[in-house]
Amino acid sequence: MSEECVFCKIIKKELPARVVYEDDNVIAFLDINPVSKGHTLVVPKKHYRNMVDAPDEVVAKVHIVAKKIGIAAMEVLGAKGFNVISNNEKVAGQEVFHFHVHVIPRYTGDELHYDVKGYKYTEGEADEVAKKLNEALK
Ligand code: 5GP
Ligand code: ZN
Repeated sequence: MSEECVFCKIIKKELPARVVYEDDNVIAFLDINPVSKGHTLVVPKKHYRNMVDAPDEVVAKVHIVAKKIGIAAMEVLGAKGFNVISNNEKVAGQEVFHFHVHVIPRYTGDELHYDVKGYKYTEGEADEVAKKLNEALK
């Protein structure tokens, strides 16, 4: 637990949140600043900075709950699909440094989109990148 962490405070019930799911290890609550109806944050009860620090079993549990919530949003909110996203480190847009996954229900015609410009590989670069990652993952 971290004294200053806003999600730890929600977990300790020191701050209010609209909790949609809770078990011994994981809590999920509505995002205070939603990008779509039902936008939910899935958070391990133990404090980890982000996915890099979280043990694999915690990462797995959080994603299993994210799946349940996405399906529930399709069943009861009229969502037709959902995105599961985690921002890891500042450069990736992380603002709250307690590992969490966003479940973003998607609705027909919601016009949400990633502001992606695309990355163009230079000649031979894609092969080099795939090789480097493949080596690192062996
Ligand atoms: P990040 O950019 O770190 O992945 O996302 C943090 C998310 O936490 C943001 O979408 C933000 O709206 C949400 N958030 C920040 N503070 C609170 C809070 O006190 N309560 C709730 N429910 N959500 C919060
Ligand atoms: Zn925390």
